[in-house]
Amino acid sequence: MTPELSLEFIEKLPKTDLHCHLDGSLRLDTILDLARKQHVKLPTFDRGELFNLLYAGEKCASLEDYLKAFDITLSVMQTEAALERTAFELAEDAWKENVRYLEVRYSPLLHTREGLRPATVVEAVMRGLRAAKRQYGIRYGVILCAIRSLSSESSLRIAELCVAFKNRGVVGFDVAGAEVGNPAKVHRQAFQLVIDNNISCTAHAGESFGPDSIHQALHKCGAHRIGHGTRLVENGDLLNYVNDHRIPLEVCPSSNVQTKAASSFETHPVDFYVDYGLRVTINTDNRLITDTTVSKETWLCHKAFGWPLSTLKEIIIAGFKSGFMPYREKADLLAEVSAELAAIQAPTNGKAAERQAERPVTGAASPAALAEAPAATRTPQ
Ligand SMILES: [Zn+2]
Repeated sequence: MTPELSLEFIEKLPKTDLHCHLDGSLRLDTILDLARKQHVKLPTFDRGELFNLLYAGEKCASLEDYLKAFDITLSVMQTEAALERTAFELAEDAWKENVRYLEVRYSPLLHTREGLRPATVVEAVMRGLRAAKRQYGIRYGVILCAIRSLSSESSLRIAELCVAFKNRGVVGFDVAGAEVGNPAKVHRQAFQLVIDNNISCTAHAGESFGPDSIHQALHKCGAHRIGHGTRLVENGDLLNYVNDHRIPLEVCPSSNVQTKAASSFETHPVDFYVDYGLRVTINTDNRLITDTTVSKETWLCHKAFGWPLSTLKEIIIAGFKSGFMPYREKADLLAEVSAELAAIQAPTNGKAAERQAERPVTGAASPAALAEAPAATRTPQ
């Protein structure tokens, strides 16, 4: 029988978070502080009440309902200082739970209400992330999001920003927002511009709409990864295609339960996906609105599906393999993390004998370490 792993144990494992929205992952106290400083009127200044307004929890009826909380978070994210601070704090929070590689996503167009230019928004977020990297060593990449419900012209602006900031922190393009009634193919031209410039892209798909949305993201837009993919399970043929091509799924289980993309955690298709051999990564989506961390999501999966440590290690490795980072950098990081994971054993009695995951003191380990990693931590490329 699989010994139960604690949340604290999982927090010590090196991890990635590849699907994390900046505007859904603020600290509650930072929202209150920024609102006071900027004289922004919040629906409430009571910490508990504000959390209840933001936290999707059980009361959320749909993805569209879930997205309402962003009105509040975005209201305090319209200045360079606020963007720099929230980006830094997000990377700091991720680092505290041992996320070694973080991909932060947001749409610059949602931060221009007070007159900021989209490029200024990108630069402010980058300053915050760079500061976190200097202080903690956390690696990061930025994904700029087009919004499904906005025009194809606005998506093109985002795609142009991706091109402008390529090799300057931006690693990918995404389309996010309300899926029903807003097909990704409307934004095809933006995807094409990004792909023509050899930039990676992903798309939120199969969350509140069925597998057709995933088909469109892959075959009409050229997405290299799929955000969520919860409803991929409904089309076996497409599921096999995704598996055969090792297309990574950015799974965010708790968020899916809250938006009703999945009816419960226990029945979430991620267990089937892992069992079937799909390239699954576990992510947060929105750390504040879903009240989670990537450690918590991994731990909840471990508890709900009985995944042993070997499976958790495979998923962690899949996360590092699926990041939109240059191959050489990825190979070094993968080697470092594989060696580290290989040295970590499950506790024998549920609490004692935990071998802590030690952070490397020096830089990346030799790529040779990858070859020495046990087969269980290596899945086919
Ligand atoms: Zn998302």
